[in-house]
This record gives sequence, C-alpha cells and structure tokens, in this order.
Amino acid sequence: MISTSQIRTCLLLSSVLGILQNCQVSARKYNNQSDPDWPKTGEWLKLSRDLSLLAELYGPFESSDYEDLCYIDNEHMTSPFDIAKDMRGEGICMQYSDCTNSFCLGELGAKRDNLPAYVLMAKEEKDIVTGVQFANKYNIKVSVKSTGHSLSGASTAKDTLLIWLAQYPEDNTIQLDYQDSCGDTESHNVIGVAAGQNFKSIAEAVGDDYHFVSASEWTVSASGGFIQGGGVSFTSRHYGLGVDNVVDFRVVLPSSAVVIADRCTNSDLFWALRGGGGGSFGIVTHMNYKLHAPTPIVRFSFNLEESSSNDTTVSTFLKYVAENLPNIDSRWGGRFSWFGLDMYFAGFPRGAQVTFLDDFIEFAMTNLNLPLSFWEKNHTRSYDSWSRVLPELEETTGQAYVAETSFSRLVPHDFATEQTVEHYQLLESLAKSNTLGYTNVLLGQNINKIPESETSVHPAFRESAFLLTANQIGYEKLLEKLPNNVTGASKNHVGSLEPNWRESIWGEHYERLLEIKELYDPRNIFSCYQCVGYEGEETDIYTKGKKLNPPNQAPTGGTIDQPTSAAQVLSTGSKLIIIMIGFSMYLMS
Ligand SMILES: Cc1cc2nc3c(=O)[nH]c(=O)nc-3n(C[C@H](O)[C@H](O)[C@H](O)COP(=O)(O)OP(=O)(O)OC[C@H]3O[C@@H](n4cnc5c(N)ncnc54)[C@H](O)[C@@H]3O)c2cc1C
Repeated sequence: MISTSQIRTCLLLSSVLGILQNCQVSARKYNNQSDPDWPKTGEWLKLSRDLSLLAELYGPFESSDYEDLCYIDNEHMTSPFDIAKDMRGEGICMQYSDCTNSFCLGELGAKRDNLPAYVLMAKEEKDIVTGVQFANKYNIKVSVKSTGHSLSGASTAKDTLLIWLAQYPEDNTIQLDYQDSCGDTESHNVIGVAAGQNFKSIAEAVGDDYHFVSASEWTVSASGGFIQGGGVSFTSRHYGLGVDNVVDFRVVLPSSAVVIADRCTNSDLFWALRGGGGGSFGIVTHMNYKLHAPTPIVRFSFNLEESSSNDTTVSTFLKYVAENLPNIDSRWGGRFSWFGLDMYFAGFPRGAQVTFLDDFIEFAMTNLNLPLSFWEKNHTRSYDSWSRVLPELEETTGQAYVAETSFSRLVPHDFATEQTVEHYQLLESLAKSNTLGYTNVLLGQNINKIPESETSVHPAFRESAFLLTANQIGYEKLLEKLPNNVTGASKNHVGSLEPNWRESIWGEHYERLLEIKELYDPRNIFSCYQCVGYEGEETDIYTKGKKLNPPNQAPTGGTIDQPTSAAQVLSTGSKLIIIMIGFSMYLMS
C-alpha cells in the first residue's frame, strides 16, 4: 500500500521534474460485500433500529437495482428535484442517469457498478453519528450524498454505506449579530443552512429581504458539494465565491465526533472545507452563511439566434467578449458562449445601462449585422431580488450542465488582458469547432481580492477572468494553451475524465489538503472519486473506457457469484431494509 507521505513525495517529484505523474494511492483493504467480515443481516437490522424514528436504511443494492429504481424518462431528466430528492425513495439515483458524467465505470456508461451497499437516509445528526460509528466498527467506507448533482459521480461509491442528506430537516434561522468562536461579531446577517438543504429553500426563506450567493440552479445543495467545491455564482464577482460567504461549519468527523470549524476553532478544517471538496473531511450538518443587503437584479439575455451560424458575426462578438468582459463593473456577472450572453447586474436598470448595456448595444448595432426585428425585442428584465431570478434558471441551466460542462479551465486575468490576441483566438477556435461549453462564467473583481491562501480552492481562482467549459475535444485545446503549470480547473465543473485531477483541481493546495485529510481521517474511511485522499480505480480522457487499477493494489479478498434474485422488502417499523435473498443466504451460511 502507498502511504499519503509517498503520495506527497510523488507530488513533489512531479512538480520538481515537471512530469505529470499519476500519484494515486493503491486501495486500502476495506470490507466489501463479499468479505466474511462484512456485517451480517442482524447487524444491519440493529443499525436500522438504532436510527431515529423517521430515518431509513435501504439495501443491499446491486447494479440491476439502478435500472429498476432509477429509470429516468424524459420528464424526469428535466426535473432535477425528482432526482435530488430521489422520488422513488432509496437514495441511489444520480443526476445523470445515463452516467454521462458519473464515475460509473463498468462498461463505461453502461453498467452501474459504483453503487453503495446500503443507504442511510439521515433525519437527525445522531443518525449520521450512528452511521459513521457503524462504518468505523466494521471497516466500511462511507460515501455522502445530498442531491447527487456531482459531475464526477463523487456522491456514490461501491461497497460503501452512503449517508444521504436530501431529507434532512432545513434550518433557515437568520441571526443578526452572529459571533464566531473568536468572539468577533460578523458584519453581515447570517442564515443557518442545514445538511442537504438546497438553494430553493434559502430563496424561499429570504425572499426579497436579502441577496445571497447561490448556484445557477436552485436544486443544488448549499452546504454540500457546492460550497465545499468553491461555489461559483453569477453574482460572485461582487459578492465572492460561496466559500467566501461561510462563517462556520458543524461537522460529523470521520471519527464520529461532532465539531465546529470556523476561523478560530479547527481552523485547518475550516480552510479545507472551503474548497477541498465534499465527501472527504467529514459530513457537514450545518453552516452559517452570509446574507447581503437586498438588491434588484437586471438580467440581460442576448442571443445571436440565426446569426450564431455566421462565422464573422461570432468572431466579432467573441472579440468584444474577450476584450471587454474581464474588466467589466463588479456588479455584473453571468455567462457567455458563442451564441450570446446571459448576464446579471446587481443594481438598478440605470446602473446596468451606464456600466455596460449602452456600450454593448451600440457595439452590437454597429458591428453584428443583426436584423432590425432583433432590436424590437427587449433583452433585459428586472427582478426585485435574486430569489426571483432562480426559478427562471431552473429549466435551462440543468440541461447545459448535462451536456457541456464535463471539463473546465480557469482563464488567468493576465492571459485574458495581456495576451488578448491569443485569448480571443482560443475562444474563436473553440467556437468554430463547436467545442465550447454553454456556460462560460465571468470571474474576477472581488473574487480576486481575497488572498489565495484564505481558502483551499485552486489558487488560480483568485487571479482568473473566466471559467471556460468545454467538451473533451475543446478541453484538449484548452489544456495545450492553459496547462496545469499555468492554471487549473473548478472542482464543481469537472467531470470524471479529468486527467491529473489532483493538480488540476487544487494545484499547490493539494499537499496541505492531504495533510489535513490524514489528520481528520487517518483510516481514510471517507474516500470518494476525485476527492482528497481518494484510493482506488481511476479513469481519464486518455484511458477512457478502461479502469485503471492502481499499482500495488491490495488483494481483493474472496469472491462470490452475484445473486440474481429479485429484491425482497422487509419492513422493520418505519425502516426498510431490502435484502437480496441470495446474498443474505450467503451471509447466514
Ligand atoms: C444543474 C446544476 C447546476 C449547477 N450550478 C453550479 C453553479 O452555478 N456553480 C457551481 O459552483 N457549481 C454548480 N454545479 C455543480 C455543483 O455545485 C456540484 O455538482 C456540487 O458538487 C453539487 O453538490 P451537491 O451536494 O448538491 O451534490 P452531491 O452530488 O450530493 O454531492 C457532491 C459532493 O459533495 C459531497 N457532499 C454532499 N453533501 C455533503 C455534506 N453535507 N457534507 C460533506 N460532503 C457532502 C458528496 O460526497 C460529493 O462528493 C451545478 C450542478 C448541476 C447539476
């Protein structure tokens, strides 16, 4: 087995020698379902009895259950809420039922063999503690899931006890004079956000009274993967990333102890949780999150429509984007692609006009050759608050995420503004080859005023102008121009095929994250794909379709034939345990 210090040496060597090495650890020996030490049915039943009244335990699962329980028709594909809350109830479905982005392995995309063994649907913090204690006792890995939105499939893993938070009770308590454990009073009011709680619930709780930093889709969970992966919002240029808005976390550690992490208490953990990715350092059961003074929002949606197939128009448009958007007023944010802009201004319409709209419209009328009818439409819309924008984003963004954002690259501000020709040509070539994603996000301004060391997101986040998204072919072009020694990627915008993901997602912060991981999870029972300290099989764009077994992998123990019998449902009070007959017979023999 390779230890974490060996990984550190490997990482050091790769940076000194400038070679990209695959510094992955070989899998430790955890119990899997075919091991004799795997808990017997009675022990699982006891776990289910130890949970709170409304909590549930489901399992064990096998691949075919995914087909049965997660069959997603077109209607469901456009309803991420159904998937997040897992309407069928067992908590194993992921946002991308076809495995487009998930680390499903098997015959890549065809077979779901990355399912947990059991799912514990937590209703109270005590359930999470009980689940983690059980996993420690029986040497079982833990996976964590709020909505299943992870693009790399990090919220599911084979042979794990999955702790599922989508039905955890919401909080939404607003505090006016919040004090952290240093005794300092926070200048913002804060809202309490519980595990699994999504941005819809925050929007409904604050209404027009406050602004808050959210994902583009309100189905995403706030205190889970979004925040822990950095948290990019269309208003981040003014209000910061998600991680810049958290004031404390409450966490069930891998040891099962419950702690607070903020600036003065467990500050290393606080740092790690602000960018180091979900599912690695423990389970966040609560966070306090900054609220900002209310602001109206102006949305400017500009779509070139038929002209987006005219190369000259697209080139002229992208040249404007490349030259002007990196330094636009901080109250503007949003996204662009080859076919248009979708921008948001935190302020009143007059401010939006003088800071950007007047200039852009004059440019477009003069240079983009758009028909007169185009200008008869109104491309702006005003909203009283961000909470009113979010419902309108639900139907559009999800689809864009499914199709296009499997890869991302942070574009350094210096590159965007000093190598303008190269920058513009890069955008143009991505657009012309149809490889640019739909959601290319504006970064910079106040995001870049926070020191790189303040949070654990890739240091490049603090000096970037844009986050570009691309499909695989586009990504290879992006990597050539903007390799890992220049910049990196956003944890929340990376699919399962990212090569050298440790370096790509965290850059020089990975080593410190690994040290903190070792401190809080020395047995590495929280091990998810593309997460700090991940152990196990890997895949990437160069090996697509193949499982990469890490070198020196520990023997996998005895094997048994997979049971083929249908699931039987046993009821234990309010808790259900589905037991595969063949499997339980094996266990009892
Ligand atoms: C439609 C859509 C829109 C999106 N919009 C944005 C956007 O605007 N900005 C942005 O930055 N990203 C965005 N994302 C990406 C999103 O932030 C990531 O996929 C994120 O990981 C989702 O977190 P989740 O908790 O909802 O999902 P999950 O898949 O449930 O979890 C993701 C990761 O976090 C871990 N995790 C979840 N909950 C917890 C917890 N309570 N404690 C510890 N670990 C936990 C999981 O183990 C997993 O590793 C979007 C994704 C989708 C699908």
